[in-house]
Amino acid sequence: MPAENPCQSCGACCAYFRVSFYWSETDPALGGTVPAEMTRKLDDFRSCMCGTDQKNPRCAALEGTIGEAVNCTIYEQRPTPCREFGVDWADGALLYTPEDLARCTQARAAWGLPPLVVPQAVPLPALPDDPQKQVS
Ligand code: SF4
Repeated sequence: MPAENPCQSCGACCAYFRVSFYWSETDPALGGTVPAEMTRKLDDFRSCMCGTDQKNPRCAALEGTIGEAVNCTIYEQRPTPCREFGVDWADGALLYTPEDLARCTQARAAWGLPPLVVPQAVPLPALPDDPQKQVS
């Protein structure tokens, strides 16, 4: 039986980091998919997911209870930092970049959750640097 996706019972990364991205991701005329009403303007270049730029972040699109059961309500429309976060799950294996797995561990620790322990872990190739991508 394949292992269960640990991200579906976590959500810590959606309630720890600021999720910011180039504003055009909210403009359908420019190919953007992120619902603008769930975002907030940060500056002339960047928007962020509502709720992620506050002292105790929690993305407005996140549904459920951290560490129990969670769901991204805009999964197919989520912004680039979420799509490119280097911790993913496929066919019973954790796919990760060491850098983002460390961020995952940091977010989980903030919520009192232990580091992920999975049966298989496969390093992902490093992504090229993208100045428009920021998870901070
Ligand atoms: S858009 Fe979805 S994946 Fe991204 S931080 Fe919010 S809940 Fe998490």
